[in-house]
Amino acid sequence: MIQSLLIANRGEIACRIIRTARRLGIRTIAVYSDADAKALHVRSADEAVHIGPAAARESYLVGERIIAAAKATGAEAIHPGYGFLSENAEFAQAVLDAGLVWVGPKPASITAMGLKDAAKARMIAAGVPVTPGYLGEDQSPERLQAEADAIGYPVLIKAVAGGGGKGMRRVESSADFAESLASCRREAASSFGDDRVLIEKYILSPRHIEVQVFGDSHGDVVHLFERDCSLQRRHQKVIEEAPAPGMDAATREAVCAAAVRAAKAVDYEGAGTIEFIADGSEGLRADRIWFMEMNTRLQVEHPVTEEITGVDLVEWQLRVASGEPLPKRQDELSINGWAMEARLYAEDATRGFLPSIGRVEDFTFPHYRARIDTGVEAGAEITPFYDPMIAKVIVHRDTRSEAIAGLRETLEEGVVGPLITNSGFLWRLLGHAAFEAGVVDTGLIERDLETLTTRPEPSTEALGLAAMRLAGTPGLTPWSSQSGLRMNAPARRTMRLSDQFGRTFAVDLPQEPAIDYWPGEDVTGIDEGGERFLVRLARAEGGAGGSATDGAILSPMPGKVISVDVSAGQSVTKGQKLMVLEAMKMEHALTAPFDGVVAELNAVAGAQVQVEAVLAQIEKAEG
Ligand code: ADP
Repeated sequence: MIQSLLIANRGEIACRIIRTARRLGIRTIAVYSDADAKALHVRSADEAVHIGPAAARESYLVGERIIAAAKATGAEAIHPGYGFLSENAEFAQAVLDAGLVWVGPKPASITAMGLKDAAKARMIAAGVPVTPGYLGEDQSPERLQAEADAIGYPVLIKAVAGGGGKGMRRVESSADFAESLASCRREAASSFGDDRVLIEKYILSPRHIEVQVFGDSHGDVVHLFERDCSLQRRHQKVIEEAPAPGMDAATREAVCAAAVRAAKAVDYEGAGTIEFIADGSEGLRADRIWFMEMNTRLQVEHPVTEEITGVDLVEWQLRVASGEPLPKRQDELSINGWAMEARLYAEDATRGFLPSIGRVEDFTFPHYRARIDTGVEAGAEITPFYDPMIAKVIVHRDTRSEAIAGLRETLEEGVVGPLITNSGFLWRLLGHAAFEAGVVDTGLIERDLETLTTRPEPSTEALGLAAMRLAGTPGLTPWSSQSGLRMNAPARRTMRLSDQFGRTFAVDLPQEPAIDYWPGEDVTGIDEGGERFLVRLARAEGGAGGSATDGAILSPMPGKVISVDVSAGQSVTKGQKLMVLEAMKMEHALTAPFDGVVAELNAVAGAQVQVEAVLAQIEKAEG
């Protein structure tokens, strides 16, 4: 067994790998960029080496620095995690050339699966079913058009060198083909330097089914059953589960056997995933599941497989890389219960999934309910440099419905703040009727996006309790003027509260609350439906002074002011554009929350701003 391991990655996967290595008594070495100097993965490792600036292309993607760090610390092996350099055959070869152990497949296996057309041709030869289509050498527009017509519409044009959902065009009819082909070729040439394409039948009701495979250096390959990752948004997986709902034993046998043939065809060693696309319009059937691609690394969603099989896949990777045989034979592996994973992101689903950058002040999860794989802890920063995933929340239960319930409970109890997360979106998605019934396809999220991304208001009960916690805050008078005695009606008082999303709520409280004796709080949290609402006293309607959150235009993340469209003292109407901010390569317009006057303007075009900087203050119009 190897004695020391450098982890060429960051975040949750670096922490995940370190955990297993430590249990096996292996010395661990982390690498980190400027932005990660205080990160959890750095403190979890036995040693850590600084490899460059925050930008990944100057640190985590620089193979030479990583190999130099391994040499300097005497590491025997390198584990690439996922993303970054994990599927880079040249890097894998450089690691081997440096005399180090590469925890992954042979470079030739990575290359063999790298191009879509070559991979598909190899799979056909190995007897693996592939999506019907055209892979031919003849790339003339006439021939491609004729092939598409023969396949039947809709078809999908795919760049052979494509990846990450890029370089794909769905074509509805023969008349649209030529134009889509030209535009796909342009994108393929500029993104991948290769304008060759293949054509596939477009699968309706597509389900994403993938099989975990594992090979060793003695020529053995086993599978560890399937996962269903059909809940996707823009080809990004959102919720994953194992096993796949509606998979019967015979279909499972067929698809898993095909995955093992696929892995053997490329002489595969280590952890890999064979991705299939299934036509789920009439349930899962062996003759309607086709090979799509192979991911030659450990997958983000590997924990659901670990939960149902009881196998630590990172341990298997380290054993296989050390030359040991696979720890279990195929007949020693079986499925136990149901596992489900949700990817918790620092993003605002209600605003186009805008990343929410900043400090994580609160971070608590009910660990007795779920496995939380994370690289984040209270006090950590979510920076704009890397993927804003906060954690993977994983549950394992006896049945699928218990797994769904367990995941929802965990999301509801978990507290992450004050930055905004997609927890409420995940909670609503888990409660989606079709998903609960196991009727999934890759278009489910997009079809119901409106409902899934609408943040509800806190319940009356929760607001009432929050109001009582807030009452008695020194220096603030919670009672608004319209409250008081009414004839023949129970005496009530009305308090106005506001949340961090700029919404205000009127809360009726009994006349005689004992709450005047309570110390009171400035801000209080309401955790409901996976959402976290930060509630405070709102300014009484028409009154002077009051809460600074009302009408304050805050920067949602660190960024640059591109333009300022108003001037101080100007009257503005609700929804009017005030300024444009550029952050994380996206432009974001900040608008007036209500009709009023620009009372304060701090933003200047060209300036860099911090998260939550007060860029402007809008005061309500009089009367
Ligand atoms: P990439 O390498 O860019 O990720 P893939 O070939 O893996 O591209 O396809 C990405 C996604 O596109 C799949 O997960 C699936 O949702 C969809 N897709 C791919 N092929 C087809 C097809 N033939 N019909 C319908 N959808 C498809």
